[in-house]
Amino acid sequence: MEHWSAQGLRYLKGVGPKVAEKLHKLGVKTQRDLLFHLPLRYEDRTFVSPIGSLQPGRRSQIEAEVLHASVHFRRQGRSRRVLAARLADTTGVITVRFFYFSANQQKQFEKGNWLRCFGEVRSAQGELEMIHPETEVIDVENPSPLSETLTPIYPTTEGLHQISIKRILQQAIEKLKSEGIAETLPQAWLDKNNFPGFTSAMIDLHCPENRRDSELIAQHNHPAQNRFIVEELAAHRLALLERRRQIRSRKTPAIQPDEKLQQRLKQALPFELTGAQQRVLGELMQDFGAGKPMIRLVQGDVGSGKTVVAALACLPVVESGYQAVLMAPTEILAEQHFQNFDHWLAPLGLKVLNLLGADKGKKRQQKLALIASGEAQVVVGTHALFQASVEFSRLGFIIFDEQHRFGVDQRLALQRKTRGDEMAHQLIMTATPIPRTMAMSIYADLDYSQIDELPPGRKPVTTSIISEQQRESLIKRVAGSCAEGGQVYWVCTLVEESDALQCEAAEITYETLRQQLPQLSIGLVHGRMKPAEKEATINGFKNGDINILVATTVIEVGVDVPNASIMIIENPERLGLAQIHQLRGRVGRGLRESFCILLVRSGLSELARTRLEIIRGTQDGFAIAEKDLELRGAGEVLGTRQTGEMSFKIADLMRDQKWFPQVEVLAKLMQLPENAEVRTELLHNWIGERQDYTDVG
Ligand code: ADP
Ligand code: MG
Repeated sequence: MEHWSAQGLRYLKGVGPKVAEKLHKLGVKTQRDLLFHLPLRYEDRTFVSPIGSLQPGRRSQIEAEVLHASVHFRRQGRSRRVLAARLADTTGVITVRFFYFSANQQKQFEKGNWLRCFGEVRSAQGELEMIHPETEVIDVENPSPLSETLTPIYPTTEGLHQISIKRILQQAIEKLKSEGIAETLPQAWLDKNNFPGFTSAMIDLHCPENRRDSELIAQHNHPAQNRFIVEELAAHRLALLERRRQIRSRKTPAIQPDEKLQQRLKQALPFELTGAQQRVLGELMQDFGAGKPMIRLVQGDVGSGKTVVAALACLPVVESGYQAVLMAPTEILAEQHFQNFDHWLAPLGLKVLNLLGADKGKKRQQKLALIASGEAQVVVGTHALFQASVEFSRLGFIIFDEQHRFGVDQRLALQRKTRGDEMAHQLIMTATPIPRTMAMSIYADLDYSQIDELPPGRKPVTTSIISEQQRESLIKRVAGSCAEGGQVYWVCTLVEESDALQCEAAEITYETLRQQLPQLSIGLVHGRMKPAEKEATINGFKNGDINILVATTVIEVGVDVPNASIMIIENPERLGLAQIHQLRGRVGRGLRESFCILLVRSGLSELARTRLEIIRGTQDGFAIAEKDLELRGAGEVLGTRQTGEMSFKIADLMRDQKWFPQVEVLAKLMQLPENAEVRTELLHNWIGERQDYTDVG
């Protein structure tokens, strides 16, 4: 028979289909999941306070006699009936009120009954009161024992009462106490780290004995928590390593490193590759030659020249008879990559094709046919490439640009387009640097290269923070720069998280600038425009017909116009630091001296100012990313890779970095052959049904 902890919830009292559904919503499917539904906080109900000692604002427990209770009607408000009762002990009097109540509740308030109540004490017109306390009738001669441990308060969801969830959880905890659960980690390792075993750690977290425990828990520093934090992080690391092992054991397209085409492209380029670009290209070629699927992450700061490295890497793939595909996160970027790739590769006789979401009907059919027949050798596109109707003839190489915007699911969707049992080579490019220790946890499945050098001649971008009052002089300065042939980005953001409002802000700025600078040509791009319109405007900006490009953050990634030398960002405080850095990276690419101007409203908070000062003070993407992680947390900065597939029950990548060394040790230990069984169990427990995580298709 299944172990109790693996059983569904229907075996528990109080769980009907409705409650089960609510619990599912909270991510709880088995009794084991229930145990991991940990308290938000704890209340101390181990003692009773005399009414005379109560302090408004505190949640307290009293025992008192009902002096009088009445139900009266009100004219306003949601509910019309109010139950009010006066209670007293030997030290004082208090009123309790209920704005909704059941007949059973009302019955408790019979005159002369003794009640134990728990709730927040308030002071109303100089008198004490409790609204909606939890109540229980007690026998004053022989009261039921008080709780010996602190009382957990659980996260809950609409329609599921705290009391119900507590009762359900209590049953699982009772089973844990009586029947126990198999230990998931090697005992020697637990002992060495002074970590408690599973059962006692779990009980500690649900029912801490004293305030010291609950304080440690609140600080995320209780041994019981630490044990599960390390365990969970290790499980994720093992899952990634397992995924990697599976991928690497698969057959893969044999790519012959080919120097000739690469040589020709290098000669045609108007620049020499940097040493770092050469080195990383070499690493990619080695991967191709190794006979195993490549899974490599290439990190390089904004403007470090990742695109051309990707293009060069496609050449031996095509030469070996396979297709390469480049996935971009936005249409604007896909379009630009397509133009670059076509410009570089078409002269070598390669057929480059783009597939965008906007391609519909006949045009789309034609493109799909070219991809399916293999005539299209290099395909550039957006999410449109994931669709089932897209079939490749012989897909051998997949490149993801700005990968943090793609999840594993999406990567797998593309990978599944590989023919037969072959696994395509994968290259993932990102400008977001990740601190090494963290990378080990979240990118344990990937090899890692870094383009740690910018092309020569890049001038540092001078960043300044100016206030809204200086807008007029800023516009003059913009006009001056344009008169000398310069070009300007003007990025609009809004405090509200709304795409529509952001577009509107861009439209308003666009109209205003057109009126104020009639002598200049001004363009507008935002997310709500038709792709063809966006494309035409970006092209106009590229070839210099447009002086000022007003845009939303859609131009954040990739857009490359070396002649542009001024980047203005309105309300930059609402953006992440890494995002501002990306935007700033759009300038400083050409011969002109470049500026990034952060246009802020007055009344900026201290924190917002501190953040912008970081941007002003450094051009180092690594330093900025570290700060950004500190300020915003890993989920925000790294995107889906955390939030979607790497959601943690108890660990937090930022907060728990100090445990990474132990995580590595534990993961190594669990990889030993003698731990194969525990390891399977561990993955099952923590990763469980998230099959896709380890199933590489
Ligand atoms: P990112 O790494 O941010 O994607 P890009 O690939 O868009 O950077 O490159 C930025 C700009 O630098 C492009 O205009 C590109 O052509 C140019 N570039 C790339 N490599 C070099 C190089 N070695 N020397 C000079 N310019 C280069
Ligand atoms: Mg790029």
